[in-house]
Amino acid sequence: MNIKERITRIFTGPAVENPLLKRDFFSQIVISTAIIAVGFFVFGLIVHKHIYFIITAISMLVFMGLLFSIYKFTKNPPTQITVYILYCAIIGCIYVPALYFYGGGIHSGVPLFFMLGGIATILLLDNWLMVLVLVANIAAAFITYNIDQTNFISDRFMPKGGDNIYLDIAISAIVAGWAAGVFLRRLTQGFEEKEAKANELYAKIEDAATKDPLSGAYNRRYLMDFLAKCIKEYEEGELSTFSIIMFDIDHFKNINDTYGHLAGDDCIRSLSLIIQSTTRDTDIVTRYGGEEFICVLPTADETPAFRRAEQIRVAVENTQLSQDINKTITISGGVMMYKPGMSAEELIEAADHNLYIAKENGRNQIVWHNGGIPPLVYTAYGGDMLQPTYNSGRRFSDATKF
Ligand code: GH3
Ligand code: MG
Ligand code: MG
Repeated sequence: MNIKERITRIFTGPAVENPLLKRDFFSQIVISTAIIAVGFFVFGLIVHKHIYFIITAISMLVFMGLLFSIYKFTKNPPTQITVYILYCAIIGCIYVPALYFYGGGIHSGVPLFFMLGGIATILLLDNWLMVLVLVANIAAAFITYNIDQTNFISDRFMPKGGDNIYLDIAISAIVAGWAAGVFLRRLTQGFEEKEAKANELYAKIEDAATKDPLSGAYNRRYLMDFLAKCIKEYEEGELSTFSIIMFDIDHFKNINDTYGHLAGDDCIRSLSLIIQSTTRDTDIVTRYGGEEFICVLPTADETPAFRRAEQIRVAVENTQLSQDINKTITISGGVMMYKPGMSAEELIEAADHNLYIAKENGRNQIVWHNGGIPPLVYTAYGGDMLQPTYNSGRRFSDATKF
């Protein structure tokens, strides 16, 4: 919004578009005004203001109570607007002038409170209604000051102000400041509460859009977005390297057939937990398909990625994934490090290819793909790959047959 639009926005359209927020404003304004009324009442007693000043303060408190009750029990928009108009007009045109007359006129602190009507009107009313009530408020203020200045009524009816003028103005300024403070504080708290709720809701929506409900791992869409981000950062030189691991449960069809789908679901959940607890916070774990998971490990080249994959494979082998299954369940994995120029799909396909070799080679093993010489602990496996492929040394299947 440019400056012209901002200024136009102040005078046109609703002050606050959300009617619920307006309700909030109103309740804060009424509470602040009630505090002011109590302040006037106490102050009237202490500095021996006119009896009508004290009565006006009590009546103002009762009026606030009345408005608050109507506001509480109605959600019907025309009634709400009527309540807002009543507040803005009666405070500005009746209560403040009355307090002014009975409280010592210009030689008192009351003039400060002429601002109440203006603040409320600008916050709560819109368009021509706002203008109308503002004009009424201005007229009331002018008439009040004029009557005082011409000593028309004041000589006869107004108590003589001035004796306590310093105390009066000091306390009025403090009461006005505190009331404004309470109003702003409640308003801020209200915004914060709303923001916290909105953030909670946003987190829930984000979770629902990016996570898989069964395993709690991220979904495929999130994986593709994350990979695109890694590739971009790699190309821009912000990410030195990254790798992915693709896991798949061995003989899962048979597990489902033998122990049922629910036991199968348990395995998927447990595997997800193992992978999530074994990877770093910066790595992401995603459910790629039925019982296939892909981890992305930013900054890891294929050696740490392979070791991590091995660690997960061993952990799965040593964990009972479902209470209903007491046979050892195993997984196979394919590791692939990102090579310049690859697309996300090509990277996944390469990891899938290594996974395929792990399956072909007997399952329960991790296969990786490295252009260099592998650490001695890993035995070479000659697949039909462009570069040598290495596995974790399991040439023969030791995956449980279901
Ligand atoms: P391999 O060792 O070669 O991987 O054999 P496999 O039987 O595991 O073969 P595959 O990976 O193709 O099996 C996938 C099975 O996963 C098939 C499907 O019934 C099962 N599956 C997919 N999604 C779910 C799921 O959400 N819950 C359960 N319980 N099973 C699923
Ligand atoms: Mg499988
Ligand atoms: Mg599968």
